[in-house]
Amino acid sequence: MRLSLPKSYSKKLWRAIAEFDLIQADDKIMIGFSGGKDSSFLAYALSVLCKSAPVPFVVEAVHVDLGFNPDYDYTAFYEFFERIQIPLHIEHTRIQEMVFAGGKKSACARCAYFRRGVVNAHAAAKGFNKVAYAHHYDDAVETFLMSILYAGQVSTFLPSTYLSESKLTVIRPMVYLREKEVREAKKFVSFEPVVSPCPMDGCTKRHEVKDLIRQMTMRNKMVFYNVAAAMCEGSVRDMWPGRLDGKEMEARMKQFWAPKYCNQEE
Ligand code: SF4
Repeated sequence: MRLSLPKSYSKKLWRAIAEFDLIQADDKIMIGFSGGKDSSFLAYALSVLCKSAPVPFVVEAVHVDLGFNPDYDYTAFYEFFERIQIPLHIEHTRIQEMVFAGGKKSACARCAYFRRGVVNAHAAAKGFNKVAYAHHYDDAVETFLMSILYAGQVSTFLPSTYLSESKLTVIRPMVYLREKEVREAKKFVSFEPVVSPCPMDGCTKRHEVKDLIRQMTMRNKMVFYNVAAAMCEGSVRDMWPGRLDGKEMEARMKQFWAPKYCNQEE
């Protein structure tokens, strides 16, 4: 069966690929496949794009089994990847034990760290030079707001990041696709996303921020795009100066109060 992508989707994917220089000739791209709607769309889309791209590149996928259900039946995964003609490797791990051994606090950050490590190690061992993740536009905006609200930093992930340690480039070709579009793509991707067995699923900071944006967008539909615009270089204006450390502050206070005491001495 010949796979195809609606033009509205391929346009946004090609825009990101060209604008951020995500794919070059002879790239070997490893997809991090979670089994969800986003990464199943990415795998499907890259399968289509690599057949029509102006340059040749190779795509494979790796799924990191976190170890929640050792008896999980992966038949549907293998059938999907056979249909889209991409080799799939499943790496079995016990990441969930390590993640929850430290309690629920920061569990997602630890989980993401270990998962990325497994994906990168597999890609590097197979001689791949790129890893593709299925982060979309909503993910980028949510990460940006999460970073401000919970870390006090203005940052989000980039469409492309070079990891000097592993010599891999992480690419995110879906950064211009809205989550709603990815959800609707299920009708042609034809893969039933797996339900996460993780106890943290649905109660993360990301879900709080997603809900916040959704509620604010109901009152003003530009909210999402305004936050998205603030993520881009050139949007930063009128920032406060960096905070002084303890010693600098002490010196500044001494300087500030000095005239009073000097006058008293006179
Ligand atoms: S929700 Fe569960 S599986 Fe997902 S990142 Fe957090 S700990 Fe990992």
